[in-house]
Amino acid sequence: MALEIKTIKGEIEIVSGLHIGGNKDTLEIGGIDNPVIKDPITGYPYIPGSSLKGKLRSLLEWYIGRPFEILQAKQKENKKRMERGERNFLDESVGPCNCGQCIVCRLFGSTNENAKHPTSIVVRDCFITDETQKRISEEHLNYLEEKVENSIDRIKGKATNPRHTERVAPKVKFSFEINYKIFDKKEKEEFKNAIATSLALLEKDYLGGNGSRGYGRIKFLNVRDENGEEFKIEIKELNKENS
Ligand SMILES: [Zn+2]
Repeated sequence: MALEIKTIKGEIEIVSGLHIGGNKDTLEIGGIDNPVIKDPITGYPYIPGSSLKGKLRSLLEWYIGRPFEILQAKQKENKKRMERGERNFLDESVGPCNCGQCIVCRLFGSTNENAKHPTSIVVRDCFITDETQKRISEEHLNYLEEKVENSIDRIKGKATNPRHTERVAPKVKFSFEINYKIFDKKEKEEFKNAIATSLALLEKDYLGGNGSRGYGRIKFLNVRDENGEEFKIEIKELNKENS
């Protein structure tokens, strides 16, 4: 079969302030200015494709139960080593799956030499829509907001360490585009369902930083496939190994 490339396009609407910072974000703990990442050409914020891709991938890994499986495999391996009289050394960090075989590795890619085929998915950078740009220039829509975050001193009951965090404001819309390659006919439905599931999970979760404090809720709008047909965002049952 010839290579087939599928497309999913739509909009991401910000529901609660979104913070995706640049690199210096992590270095400037306690810094006053904690800006969001912006497109150097337009000066408008954007959502890097890598951020969206990473989030979709990690949600899908959790959905199929991969992180705990990886941790259990590490624990088992360590136990075996100790039984052989080697020292107890358990690295409990769990990064992305790299088995090369599971649905996540096949769709999102892996560096495993036994990988079935190259990475399927491409997630483009998401830029502000023309409609939002128009609302910014004509209606002065506030597309950025500043949130002050404090810690509460438990004894004095007072706020300490105020941090100013910039966020993309609610109602701002970004265009998004995902392409995915079908190398094997058997993966067509599987990949479509996996992407539909990851998008649905993201709507229930968050994008960017500080999600447990309410940041980064988003919703997908007008999502269509390469034929212009509605692409349904819903949680599907996935066969993790398969194909
Ligand atoms: Zn895998």
